[in-house]
Amino acid sequence: MDVNDSIIHIKGIGTAKEKLFNILNIFTIMDLIEHYPITYEDRTQIQLTNEVVLGSKALLKGKIITSPEVRKIRNNLNITKAIAQDESGQFQLIWYNTPYMKNSIVLGEFYYFYGKINRTHGQIQIEMPEYAEINNNKKIFGIFPKYKLTKGLSQNDIRKSINQVINNVDIDDYLNNDLVKKFELYELKQAYKHIHFPESYRQLNTARDRLILNEFLETQLAFKYMKNEKLKNSNALRFSINREVMTKIDRLVNSLPFELTLSQKNVLDELYEDLRNDIPINRLIQGDVGSGKTILAVIMLLICHLNGYQGVIMVPTEILAEQHYKYIESLFSRLEIKANIALMTKFKSSKTRLETLSKVSSGKYDLIIATHGVIQRDVEFLNLGLVITDEQHRFGVKQRKQLTNKGKNPHVIVMSATPIPRTISLSLYGDLDISTINVLPAGRKPIQTYCVNTTYRNRIYKFIDEEINKGRQAYILCPSIEINEKLNSAVEIYESLKKGIFKDVSIDILHGKINNEEKEKTMRLFYENKIKVLICTTVVEVGINVPNATIMLIENAERFGLAQLHQLRGRVGRGNEQSYCMLLTDNKSNTVQERMNVLVQSTDGFYISQRDLELRGPGDYFGFNQHGLPGFKLADLSKHQDILLTANNIVEYIMESGNKDIEFKILDVFNNKLKQISMN
Ligand code: ADP
Ligand code: MG
Repeated sequence: MDVNDSIIHIKGIGTAKEKLFNILNIFTIMDLIEHYPITYEDRTQIQLTNEVVLGSKALLKGKIITSPEVRKIRNNLNITKAIAQDESGQFQLIWYNTPYMKNSIVLGEFYYFYGKINRTHGQIQIEMPEYAEINNNKKIFGIFPKYKLTKGLSQNDIRKSINQVINNVDIDDYLNNDLVKKFELYELKQAYKHIHFPESYRQLNTARDRLILNEFLETQLAFKYMKNEKLKNSNALRFSINREVMTKIDRLVNSLPFELTLSQKNVLDELYEDLRNDIPINRLIQGDVGSGKTILAVIMLLICHLNGYQGVIMVPTEILAEQHYKYIESLFSRLEIKANIALMTKFKSSKTRLETLSKVSSGKYDLIIATHGVIQRDVEFLNLGLVITDEQHRFGVKQRKQLTNKGKNPHVIVMSATPIPRTISLSLYGDLDISTINVLPAGRKPIQTYCVNTTYRNRIYKFIDEEINKGRQAYILCPSIEINEKLNSAVEIYESLKKGIFKDVSIDILHGKINNEEKEKTMRLFYENKIKVLICTTVVEVGINVPNATIMLIENAERFGLAQLHQLRGRVGRGNEQSYCMLLTDNKSNTVQERMNVLVQSTDGFYISQRDLELRGPGDYFGFNQHGLPGFKLADLSKHQDILLTANNIVEYIMESGNKDIEFKILDVFNNKLKQISMN
């Protein structure tokens, strides 16, 4: 039997059953083998009648003490009852419409029974139990797989089919014996067998670990392979950093009001190094909120421009695009760097849009600061040399690729403010090199974070007022825009503060439903310190940089994920003043308090995202679902990080040892899975 054969070859599966299996996405023998149990029934412990849990299933052992009797209740219902006894008490056996049980169960004999436990009239009952004789107990004893079903297929159909193939199929372990020994791995064929029919939990766990390892191996190897291929095939665009370019970079850097941190310099060196070696840049720059990634993007855009290529930076929000646009404009104009910079966000009319597009495609614009509209099909570049995505976690891998495809092998830089645990970055950005900014600029004071309930509201307002008197500014962030029963809305808070405690303070409101011009104006006034308190929604979540703001008050903090709260908090603490973040919540549940505590205790983005991953799971982690890679059936990034690391070690070992045979075998499996995904 071959793993790629159709399941129609399995005894007991005809065309009708085949269709049912197909509904479960099972077409081949391998699909069937990889239809892993969703859970297992534990039938390894015999329970006593006096210790069973009502409502759950149990395995009991008993001697039949009353002969089974069949009673007809209605025309279509008869009941067979008997009583059995174990050392702790008696239990009643009940079967519906199964009169032949009368002849199967013999008075005075011992049996095992497995079924759901109930109690009526004080009597413990076991309903429709499966049963087995004491010396023939295989079909009832052990760890039993339970599968996802579809109407018309039973657990038994699936169990039987798998049982049939698992012993007869050839499974080729792509890792050879040497590797299996070297990394002390469980044998693959055994793993497939034991994930379905384990004899112990230990066996089950080792089997599962081996199969998880395979899932990781396939994606990790594919990533490494893509990366190598990219290196081999693409002629890197030549960006020269000659003396002239260097002088201009130095002038730019010297014009800054600060000195670059060592970390920033190191990352720049890594980027320069790629260019010097004619390696196409393919780099994720990750650094915590406020670590100073923007300036690195600006420097790279300058290099791109000086080399005569167009560069684009894509950001997730209009506000952020405008901020970057202004920042770059002002830096460049002070230094008399002549670059035509386009801001591509929402356009006033389709006419202005087309005008802009034509200037981009004809090369009149050198640098383009854009939101995701730039990936639309009709946007073309003359000679795109550098693609930067800022706040990459807001985009999918697909969007990144779409933008990259607008040039011929442009250099690619991906910036992510939310630090990603290594395991996630390996699985999401495995095709990228990674540079990390791991220190914040000097002089930053850690943000003080407090989690309080709403009885503190007025005290916090008073505190904000004091900070404003010292010249500072504050954000008050709300989970919803408009009045809403459960949540504090921006509109409500704004109205009440404007009339109340902040009636003499300049306060304003900013959210997604406000039109662009208004938004822009409000943001400008906030940048210029003419607005002191900004009531807002998560429109300010990413990138916004107003170093004079020192307070972030977050309403209904329980509504936000940890990584998101860390981002929001990152809007303050961007200057040299002491900053504060207040998490307001009346939710006392343990999970909420535990999450809030992580933030109160730590400002380390890596730690926080690691905890976020553990507490929440990677399900919707930074667009993980949009990554467009074969899904994991067993692997779960929040739980199996150590296995991922092992997989990574093995992949490195394979690639270093130059064993093409294994490499191709694994890639083959991966590509097959990719194909299936695009088919589904
Ligand atoms: P992020 O990494 O979150 O994108 P930004 O690039 O917005 O961070 O930088 C945050 C703030 O820190 C900005 O005001 C920026 O001008 C400032 N900054 C950047 N680098 C340094 C540095 N080396 N020293 C001091 N301040 C810096
Ligand atoms: Mg940023």
